[in-house]
Amino acid sequence: MSFDTLGLAEPLLRAVHEQGYTQPTPIQAQAIPAVLSGGDLMAGAQTGTGKTAGFTLPLLQRLMGATPAPTAKGRLPIRALILTPTRELAAQVEESVRTYGKYTKLKSMVMFGGVGMQPQIDRLRQGIDILVATPGRLLDHAQQRTLDLSHVEILVLDEADRMLDMGFIHDIKKVLALLPAKKQSLLFSATFSDEIKTLADRLLNQPALIEVARRNQTAELIEQKVHPVSRDAKKDLLTYLIQTNDWHQVLVFTRMKHGANRLCEHLVKSGITAMAIHGNKSQSARTKALADFKSGDLRVLVATDIAARGIDIDQLPHVVNFELPNVPEDYVHRIGRTGRAGSPGEAISLVCVDEDIFLRDIEKLIKRSIPRAVVPGFEPNPNERAEPIVLGRMTIGVGASRGGPRHHAPARGAAPSSGGRGPGAGGGGRGDGRSANGGGHGGGGGRAAPAGPRGGARSGGGGSGRPPAKSALPPKR
Ligand code: AMP
Repeated sequence: MSFDTLGLAEPLLRAVHEQGYTQPTPIQAQAIPAVLSGGDLMAGAQTGTGKTAGFTLPLLQRLMGATPAPTAKGRLPIRALILTPTRELAAQVEESVRTYGKYTKLKSMVMFGGVGMQPQIDRLRQGIDILVATPGRLLDHAQQRTLDLSHVEILVLDEADRMLDMGFIHDIKKVLALLPAKKQSLLFSATFSDEIKTLADRLLNQPALIEVARRNQTAELIEQKVHPVSRDAKKDLLTYLIQTNDWHQVLVFTRMKHGANRLCEHLVKSGITAMAIHGNKSQSARTKALADFKSGDLRVLVATDIAARGIDIDQLPHVVNFELPNVPEDYVHRIGRTGRAGSPGEAISLVCVDEDIFLRDIEKLIKRSIPRAVVPGFEPNPNERAEPIVLGRMTIGVGASRGGPRHHAPARGAAPSSGGRGPGAGGGGRGDGRSANGGGHGGGGGRAAPAGPRGGARSGGGGSGRPPAKSALPPKR
């Protein structure tokens, strides 16, 4: 199938051809006609599937076709609102809007927290057609009455599952209350949890349903490998791999912000340019790090899962899990950064004995075993015992009951199958409501149990624009 048969207008096709796209991706082939028809849409698609063009192109076309009446203040009305969970994703989506809309007259703007309000107010005053925003800053503007959303005709919730994971449900509800009841609503989500379905029921009117293969079924292009290694040798192994293989663009994942910082310091001391990208960094530092990484000036970008969400880098050759995520779905998101849009990639995980249980959960999710390869000179110490992993206020992993901060709740499922490493994880009940639907993790989980109920650590909205720490819980299936 070619783009030309999807009913898109010439200025959009020209921009698409300039990008070098010859064929629509499956989500584009289905979403573009559905959105052009004017109906609501619920689409299951992850980053890397081409979903952004899937909603942006038809959205542009629908707006191009009509000349809007000015608002009471004589301004161009905002006719499309795209909500995203993170600043990075907002910036990238708006860049796509500009790329695909370059031969139209439509004006767009990105809006997120962590930067001054005034330039955003000035831009709003000039008039825009399409607003791409994170929920918190959007509500700040709404509160200050610097934003009028009463003319929105099309609403897109991008990565809706992530927004809910990050505790944005209250903010989303507040935003919905600012929009006209009659509009076209498009909801994109990688997973369909009960919460997403509830949101969809509330928001969507007889939506078209589209689901494309999840990346964990389409990751053939990604070569996955595990390097077993001792806990304390990971930093040196990473340095060794980067230097001996002469890698020049490596995205490295850590679980926590301070781990990202420490790793960067180590790499820089070894003569490898590296920067960390996480929620504690200023927006300008994050934007610069990403730009330098994309341009090739920065060899290593170290990211936490939240910061990396929505990072869109074409043909990223190497992704390294310096630490495995305790949420298996995050592994799929992480490795989805490589081998994208048809180019091959390599995803390497440095795994110490503490993380064996995470590896098991990941392999269960992706339904395949990841080949192990010990790197000569970095053989793991066979006597090393699993230790609990402390993640902020909670302790996870095998042996979580042995130590860690006072606040931790017992990790689930003592692990008789965990090879006799340590005394197991206490096997207590969970207060997070996931045990009831924990299918797919039957037995021997030993994963995180948060200190409070699900979502208890969240800020509960309020519109600061800064997402709270992500819950360690994966979305419900
Ligand atoms: P997305 O899922 O929207 O984050 O897009 C993933 C990547 O695929 C982006 O880098 C796009 O530039 C690229 N892409 C989108 N549509 C196509 C297409 N039809 N052909 C090739 N690459 C595409």
